[in-house]
Amino acid sequence: MKDKCGIVGIHSNLKKNVSSLVYYGLYALQHRGQESAGIATFDGSKMHSHIGMGLLTDAFKDFDFNFLPGNKAIGHVRYSTTGDSKLENSQPFLTSLNGEFIAIAHNGDIINSSSLRDELIKEGYEFTSETDSEVLFYLIKREHDKTDDFTLTIERVVEKIIGSYSMVFLIDNKLYAVRDPAGMKPLAIAKNGEDYMIASETVAFDVVGANLIRDVEPGEIIYFEYNEIKSHKIKIADSIKNAHCIFEYVYFARPDSIIDGQDIYKTRLNIGKHLYEEYKINADIVVPVPDSSIPAAIGYSRASKIPYGEGLIKNRYVGRTFIMPSQGERLIAVKLKINPIKSEIKGKKIILIDDSIVRGTTSQSMIKILREAGAKEIHLLIGCPPIIAPCYYGISMASKKELIAANNTIGQIKKQLGVETLGYLSINSLVDAVGIPFAELCLGCINEKYPTDIHQK
Ligand code: SF4
Repeated sequence: MKDKCGIVGIHSNLKKNVSSLVYYGLYALQHRGQESAGIATFDGSKMHSHIGMGLLTDAFKDFDFNFLPGNKAIGHVRYSTTGDSKLENSQPFLTSLNGEFIAIAHNGDIINSSSLRDELIKEGYEFTSETDSEVLFYLIKREHDKTDDFTLTIERVVEKIIGSYSMVFLIDNKLYAVRDPAGMKPLAIAKNGEDYMIASETVAFDVVGANLIRDVEPGEIIYFEYNEIKSHKIKIADSIKNAHCIFEYVYFARPDSIIDGQDIYKTRLNIGKHLYEEYKINADIVVPVPDSSIPAAIGYSRASKIPYGEGLIKNRYVGRTFIMPSQGERLIAVKLKINPIKSEIKGKKIILIDDSIVRGTTSQSMIKILREAGAKEIHLLIGCPPIIAPCYYGISMASKKELIAANNTIGQIKKQLGVETLGYLSINSLVDAVGIPFAELCLGCINEKYPTDIHQK
């Protein structure tokens, strides 16, 4: 599973360049997208930008940040689900708007972007990329032609789009941010001295020493005037329930982030504790699938008093996953990423903790690796319920026919994986571990109850 993108914005009134601070913020958000990265700045008279393919360090290799001057900036790291992975589709998306410069960076997916694109094409708008950003830009242009008030422009655009998103805009000298009315994607605000910072996750603040002020509320537009944060609540947000994506807590967000008041590390420890309450297994060692399952495994170990061990080691220097044609080569690809510590595994009854199973192919390879390393028993516990349906909100997951739990019973999956136990965390325990009311979460891929109309294109 992959999320789509991380965003950062910085507003300063001081005479300085903030692009390198945006860069560091993006560095902390690299887990949210590794296909391309970019930063746009405004220096008081001109917009500047740089985009590049790959990891941030590749996109900005040997880059001189003096070429990105200005005290207002936005940045983006991308994982594509709409539009190919190519430079033209990278963000921030930069253009001019009725004599002003505009840069847009967003995280998420617009479900009805095809129909909006068709509507705009019929009205004569010409597209140069396949991204949602360009759809957004023309929607903004269309509304901005009717009013000079940019918050009203954003509000009218938000009324038209269906989906999950967080966005930052730079319109000449002004930084705006908006979070979707259901708050599906995270977005938070921090203060760093006199400067303000906006980011997808609070880890981006930690790295530059900014202090979290609060989350951007669902359906809230934020902008900055001199030293003040201004807020505008979009009217339709009052009639839309919160639907925070549960997988931010289970998997996507970094464990050192805080989202909507919830400490992600503690949430994952709780997931492990709840797994123990549901599956009390007699074993020698609790092993996580690194990295995202480490806190849940620690949680299980603390609750059960069964020792925690790093039986699998992740090679952190493997770049993008490449598609391997044969099963044998796929196993090599998994081994490149994960290798067992035989002395921790051999002859032992293992509780293996993973955060989720999507297609089941990685789990299968992982089990094979553990068996080859001499595991006596493997009890696989999953920190969320079975994923039975796709995500329509910017999470690259799989189609329904590829999802192992959509097409097999738990008994059949257990048999296919060849484990002694397969246990999924129940939905109630997961919600309890996250600590946000059931009614305020998106659980669409788990229970097929989506918070928005998913049939619009
Ligand atoms: S469908 Fe699943 S992955 Fe997608 S937003 Fe909802 S909970 Fe998150």
